[in-house]
Amino acid sequence: MATPAVDWFTTGPEPALVGSTCTHCGTHAFPPETTFCKNPACSGEEFAATELSRRGRVWSYTDAQYQPPPPYIPRTDPYEPFALAAVELDEGLVVLGQVADGYGVADLKVGAEVELVVEPLYVDEDGEERTVWRWKPVQSVEPHSSVEPVETIETGESK
Ligand SMILES: [Zn+2]
Repeated sequence: MATPAVDWFTTGPEPALVGSTCTHCGTHAFPPETTFCKNPACSGEEFAATELSRRGRVWSYTDAQYQPPPPYIPRTDPYEPFALAAVELDEGLVVLGQVADGYGVADLKVGAEVELVVEPLYVDEDGEERTVWRWKPVQSVEPHSSVEPVETIETGESK
């Protein structure tokens, strides 16, 4: 059974990042806050765990051309660059994450919608599969002038 590497997200068919909400002023934080509220005008010290929006919009992105230092574990040898996206959620937070398997910077655009997915990261010494959240571009990002629901075109994704 897959175990999350950290408790910062839920798994299952509709995974979500777990942030915190200040019980005093309602300020959201991710990673979850445990000590002091991020709002400088608030003295709140109590927080409720909150599932954050599963979709957001690309705020910025890049590709990691150089292999990051440990604890990053390269998935390929030699190292292959991967894409990173900073995604703005409705809560006003910007959350950095890798881009889903099979996608790269060519699939990203500032303002484009992405969806949270949880994917395998590596298998540890105990044979446990570790997972990580990633941002997956949502298909059919072209702007439509019509307000009619638009049929999603199947892209023959085979993963
Ligand atoms: Zn607060």
